[in-house]
Amino acid sequence: MKKIAVFPGSFDPITKGHENIILRSIPLFDEIIVAIGENADKKGYFSIEQRLAWIERVFKDHPSVKVEKYSGLTVEYCKTKNANYILRGLRTSADFEFERSIGQANKKLRPELETVFMLTMPEFTPINSSIVRDVHRHGGEVYDFIPEAIHSDF
Ligand code: ADP
Repeated sequence: MKKIAVFPGSFDPITKGHENIILRSIPLFDEIIVAIGENADKKGYFSIEQRLAWIERVFKDHPSVKVEKYSGLTVEYCKTKNANYILRGLRTSADFEFERSIGQANKKLRPELETVFMLTMPEFTPINSSIVRDVHRHGGEVYDFIPEAIHSDF
C-alpha cells in the first residue's frame, strides 16, 4: 500500500518551520499532500489561492509533494485521498496538548489513520504564521521566517 500523508494546516503563509517538516518527511512517505484547510468562519490573511501557489513554488522540485485545499473534517478528506497518515509538527508542550486532543479524536473517528508527529528543529521553534502576519501587517521584514523560494513576493 502506498504511504500517503496529509499535512493539514492554514499555511497562512507557509513558514520555514513548515518547509523543514515537509522536507524531512519526504523520505518517509510516497506522497505528501499539503492540505490547506478552508474555514468559512475564518477568512485568513493571505488568499487560499496565494497560499497554495507559494507552497507549490517551494516544492516544485519535489514531485511527491502535492498541494490542495479542502474543507470539512480532516479525517474525511484523508479518506477521499486514500491517505493513511496525518502529519503534524510539534514545537512546544502547548502544541503537544493541542495535538494530543485532536489526534486522539481523529483516532476515534477513523482508527486506521495514524497521526505522525515530527519535532521542529530548535531554530524554527519560535516561528509561526501568526508572527509572520503581524510583522507583515506592520511593514516589517519577514525574510527570516519564510522559505527562500517565496522571498521575491515579499
Ligand atoms: P493550524 O491552522 O493547524 O495551526 P498551521 O499552518 O499553523 O496550522 O500549522 C500546520 C502544522 O505545522 C501544525 O502541525 C503545526 O504544529 C506545524 N508547524 C507550524 N509552525 C511550525 C514550526 N515552526 N516548526 C514545526 N512545525 C510547525
